[in-house]
Amino acid sequence: MDKYDVVVIGAGPGGYVAAIRCAQLGLKTACIERGLATTDKVTLGGTCLNVGCIPSKALLDSSHHYEHLALHAKSHGIIANNISIDVATMQKRKEKIVKTLTTGIAGLFKKNGVTSIEGSGKLQPNLNVDVCDRAGNVVTTISATNIIIATGSAPAAIPPVAVDQQYIVDSTGALNFDAVPESLGVIGAGVIGLELGSVWRRLGSKVVVLEAMPDFLGSADKDIAKEAKKLFGRQGLDIRLESTVRHTKVANKKVEISYESSDGAQSLTVDKLIVAVGRVPNTLGLGGSEVGLNIDSRGFITVDENCRTNLEGIFAVGDVVRGPMLAHKASEEGIAVAERIAGQSPHVNLAIVPWVIYTWPEIAWVGEIEQDLAAQGRDISVGSFPFMASGRARAMGEVDGFIKIIADKHSDTILGVHIIGPGASELIAEAVLAMEYGASAEDIARTIHAHPTLSEGMHEAALAVDSRTIHL
Ligand code: FAD
Ligand code: NAD
Repeated sequence: MDKYDVVVIGAGPGGYVAAIRCAQLGLKTACIERGLATTDKVTLGGTCLNVGCIPSKALLDSSHHYEHLALHAKSHGIIANNISIDVATMQKRKEKIVKTLTTGIAGLFKKNGVTSIEGSGKLQPNLNVDVCDRAGNVVTTISATNIIIATGSAPAAIPPVAVDQQYIVDSTGALNFDAVPESLGVIGAGVIGLELGSVWRRLGSKVVVLEAMPDFLGSADKDIAKEAKKLFGRQGLDIRLESTVRHTKVANKKVEISYESSDGAQSLTVDKLIVAVGRVPNTLGLGGSEVGLNIDSRGFITVDENCRTNLEGIFAVGDVVRGPMLAHKASEEGIAVAERIAGQSPHVNLAIVPWVIYTWPEIAWVGEIEQDLAAQGRDISVGSFPFMASGRARAMGEVDGFIKIIADKHSDTILGVHIIGPGASELIAEAVLAMEYGASAEDIARTIHAHPTLSEGMHEAALAVDSRTIHL
């Protein structure tokens, strides 16, 4: 039986990054990947590279260029008449990006000396792992001193809606449309609903988003959520809150949806329907319960703050454990576990994980939201700065949105930063770094920001915390 210092199960951003870091630290490492259920081919990179972050951002960028040309080029004096979208080329571009990156991981494994094993990992007693084929037959068994479970997550299903990946699709199907649907329904106004809804709306779909909750983006800061709802509405995204789907039926190549809103029973017919109601952890078939691994009622593996499970030598990271289901969180946990196994003392600060929604304008935040701080009775100071007052945003013609910084009223320590606007996904990095170093709003206010840049908005928002913004 082959023996490794570390066996990683799952090659998504949690697993592949952990495996590379283990190998860098001199640990003999293998990474088992079974491939995603939607394809026979086993590729590395997990949800993120194959059917998540990367393909969705490729389509978001393509559709952004299209919409920019269609709506905004004219104001720059650029005449782009009769523009059209070639969906096949757009999809080919996306697939090429995915292939480059996923084969890149295989190259990184080779370069770092990680043994890549195709198959499904199943835990056995005494830190052994069966490697199974798709039919569930054991192909080989390997053993380890440490195991890192990084099996990720899959789209959640809801009972009244049967995904057929043709008319009713999950996020994976929504990345693969071969034509722009005339009308598109989305169940769930979360991150995926907004991002993929935006892709197809920009290309011409009439998009209706049905959200069960009464609040839009309930986990975001209230001012950001309010602004986002206004701006998305203006773009034509029809977001219907408090809408619970009761029944769906595919007939005559259309999806008929019956749902209930505060106004009673409603119906809607669309060409395609995307189900985006969250994700569930992948623990089925992992053999966890059989070896005594603690798994909670929702399927998440129970871990402590260092990603240790209840079983000696077994760690778990990423979407399969508590915390936000984000690629960068998975990767940081993977690195930290590798370093812990190697005897180091790393840390992952789950209180300072940035969130980004790649709509346009983008939405990004880190730390606490104002409504939670208010509920806790915290004394806070809030400073905000609209992009309307930013010279660079004006030059770009991207004046929607604002930056909001929340600081402790007494110590001035930054508690949260919330951005809706152009480049929010990049701007948030400054806030994350500042918060990781325990910075005050004054620290950002005294830091020189280049002119003219969008980052000056961070400077101005920090000044606004102390009511001394200059350009407003
Ligand atoms: P995964 O990436 O899910 O990888 C787990 C891997 O384990 C998979 O390859 C799976 O096949 C494999 N596996 C499972 N069980 C076994 C087993 N028993 N044996 C062997 N292999 C197994 N996050 C962001 O931060 N930014 C984004 O922009 C973003 N966009 C997204 C867009 C979409 C459409 C989706 C669906 C998700 C997006 N996410 C984004 C979320 C991100 O993809 C996940 O948080 C991230 O992939 C989690 O990494 P992971 O390594 O924990 O799991
Ligand atoms: P989500 O949790 O972001 O949103 C799901 C939405 O569906 C919620 O608003 C929820 O209230 C609603 N919902 C749940 N059940 C419903 C029902 N029966 N009817 C109507 N609405 C219902 O989940 P998601 O959008 O599926 O994304 C899953 C996860 O993937 C995200 O939470 C995130 O962790 C990750 N992701 C991240 C990014 C990013 O970082 N930019 C992008 C995509 C996905």
